Amino acid sequence: MRIYINKKLLWIFIPLIFVLIIVLDNYQERYIPPDISINSKNFVDKSGVIHIHTVYSDGSGTFKELSEVAKKVKADFLIISDHNTWKAYYDGKERYYDGTLILIGMELSSPVGHLLILPEDTIITNLRVDTLFKYLINYSSQALIYLAHPFHPKNPVTNWNFGRYNGLELVNGDSEWRNDNVLELVEALGGAIFFSSYLNILMDTPERALNIWDKLLESRKVFIIGSTDAHANIKISDNRKIKFPSYYSSFKMIRTHLLINEDFTGDLATDRNLVLNSLKNGRCYVGIDGYCNTRGFSFYAVKENRFFYMGDNVKIDSFINFVVLSPDTSDVRIKLLKNGKIVKMAEKGKLTYKTDEPGNYRVEIYQLRRVFPFIRKKERPWIYSNPIFVIKD
Ligand SMILES: [Zn+2]
Ligand SMILES: [Zn+2]
Repeated sequence: MRIYINKKLLWIFIPLIFVLIIVLDNYQERYIPPDISINSKNFVDKSGVIHIHTVYSDGSGTFKELSEVAKKVKADFLIISDHNTWKAYYDGKERYYDGTLILIGMELSSPVGHLLILPEDTIITNLRVDTLFKYLINYSSQALIYLAHPFHPKNPVTNWNFGRYNGLELVNGDSEWRNDNVLELVEALGGAIFFSSYLNILMDTPERALNIWDKLLESRKVFIIGSTDAHANIKISDNRKIKFPSYYSSFKMIRTHLLINEDFTGDLATDRNLVLNSLKNGRCYVGIDGYCNTRGFSFYAVKENRFFYMGDNVKIDSFINFVVLSPDTSDVRIKLLKNGKIVKMAEKGKLTYKTDEPGNYRVEIYQLRRVFPFIRKKERPWIYSNPIFVIKD
């Protein structure tokens, strides 16, 4: 049997396939076996999804649906933050769901912008929502407070110096598409047909947030988290909504990883404390896991055989060695920064740096991906660490 091939069509198809393969590099999730749940310093790496809306406010998902998605995408915990309500908390929704821990916080609309609140004390969940902001300004230690989507076009942060908040969202999934051009949006929609990690296209290096964070770090400890702000709810008409982008694709894309000394116990109160302590102490990092699972990332400092980790202070009385280990050792670029300025870069999966200079040291790792034919590979945002603080005395 002879197979008939139209040569003219072939001339169209070959370049098209070529273009696709190259461009697709940006969509593809790199698989690194095995999933490293223990990092090189024996921390357990817990990968969670923060800032999620449910049917209790303007999201489309129930707690049952969300817990099923969490299982599929191997998220260890979820933090729900519906707008201005504790109702889900009072309905007993904060608990374990077949191995997935679901905690309840709130997204509070406040005079300074939207705040992500995680109660440390039950007094917070007993307060009326309209009194919460005033109370938190005076008693900030009773909850963890993060500035949500600081550069959102409609609801940005309007005051960076109100009281003692714990940190900010370095990335916010719901804000990501708002600054993209039509071409990028079309590309992402096209990718949605074939790839579960199509949202990668919309991720940009969070330069404005990084700059302002470095400034804030000059005066005190402020830590970053990565948030999905997932709603899976787009209004098409008055009585039609679509579940897009799905919880599945949002949960896959942006994670906050916690490094904890021992694994979750399965007890709600104990594990809730483990999550809150890790966030409060900055022992966590942001991963754009849509590109490649970031589990296993290590960043530490060694001084005279003692080890220091993200969030820690190190006194500078002798030389310090920094070590960064990337779980992906193929096409990545590691940057070590001191007070926001790059002090060393490395292309393979490891970076080391010796210093006796004080400063806030943090790490950025980029995936090098070809986003367009014939153009050099571009840095795509992948891992952002919290700092190790090297202090004089
Ligand atoms: Zn918001
Ligand atoms: Zn939100």
